[in-house]
Amino acid sequence: MNRDQLIFTPGPVKEYPEISELGGLQTPYFRNRAFSEVVLETEQQLLQLANAPKGSRAVLLTASGTAAMEAAVLNLVAPEHKAISVISGGFGQRFADICRVHRRQHSPYHPAFDDDLSDTGSLMQFADHDVLLINGHETSICHRFNLEQVGRFCHENQILHIVDAISMFLTDELDMQSQHIDALIISSQKALALPPGVAIIILSPRAIERLLPDPATLYFNLTDYLRDGERGQTPYTPAVSIILQLHQRLLQIASKGGLKAEIAKTREVAQFFRKGIAKLPLKIFSTHMANSVTGLSPTDGTSASQLVKEFEARYQMVLCPNGGELADTLFRVSHMGNITIQDTQRLIDALHDYFGVNQ
Ligand SMILES: *Cc1c(COP(=O)(O)O)cnc(C)c1O
Repeated sequence: MNRDQLIFTPGPVKEYPEISELGGLQTPYFRNRAFSEVVLETEQQLLQLANAPKGSRAVLLTASGTAAMEAAVLNLVAPEHKAISVISGGFGQRFADICRVHRRQHSPYHPAFDDDLSDTGSLMQFADHDVLLINGHETSICHRFNLEQVGRFCHENQILHIVDAISMFLTDELDMQSQHIDALIISSQKALALPPGVAIIILSPRAIERLLPDPATLYFNLTDYLRDGERGQTPYTPAVSIILQLHQRLLQIASKGGLKAEIAKTREVAQFFRKGIAKLPLKIFSTHMANSVTGLSPTDGTSASQLVKEFEARYQMVLCPNGGELADTLFRVSHMGNITIQDTQRLIDALHDYFGVNQ
């Protein structure tokens, strides 16, 4: 593995050295007061960053983000419920797959490519459903939904609003109160800029009330996590070191101006990048982008997957290829975590060199 490459992938992302180095220290024992305090403080910080309504709780799972998506479905979608799964790419499909595997009734809804659901009229056909599953930002095609409007639709129709915000938390506006979000899903390896291994679900009081008493899962029974979480503990051994890093990262965010500053920093980097590539034969892929990731399509016949491969070999920079149908037409550049303007300038320089275009 080459650890000196500059990574522009949407997870893992470039980390902060002062946080990374904590991962190399001895893992401490955790069934004690000191660790409980870290967990309790971490929960409070997360609730604040999400502007969670009073009475909300955050659960820390030792798993990747998909596990939190699955846990949300297992605990909040009853077999007699009807769920809407909004599908615009691979991660939306994942919610639908989770419903299928666990035999939950779900109506897949595929919005048009450039539809961010600012107009929720098309959702009215699902007004009698109980739960809506959506990826606030569909990372596979860099498409961001209008969560204000989707949340309003859910609120007006008494639909539980479950949002995978994994690739927009800390980079784009997210507000559980104004967006009427009942369950918010986060993962450690995106803008939190930590190693993968911790996934978070923030539950609103309404979601807590609706947790299924018998969710047919042991490890993902969220009620158990809520009970032990009251004293800052988890039912099973957590990713102790990553949680300690998470705690430190949240303190770092607070000391650097909080959420607004994080979002502003990512927006600045994203805009700098998008401006910097204007002369290149690259077309911005999506009409509704988040600040977190830019999706690009070569317009000169270059294969996107070939470009990603050559880029790593030539410039030691890792871009993110797409799979499947989009492998040759789309690649992605993340602006999350510790990616700076300087890093981004290096990438812009390399892209100009690659295409033989003067800046
Ligand atoms: C990265 C990501 C996930 C998480 O996937 P894991 O590999 O399970 O961590 C889920 N949803 C979205 C939108 C993502 O960007």
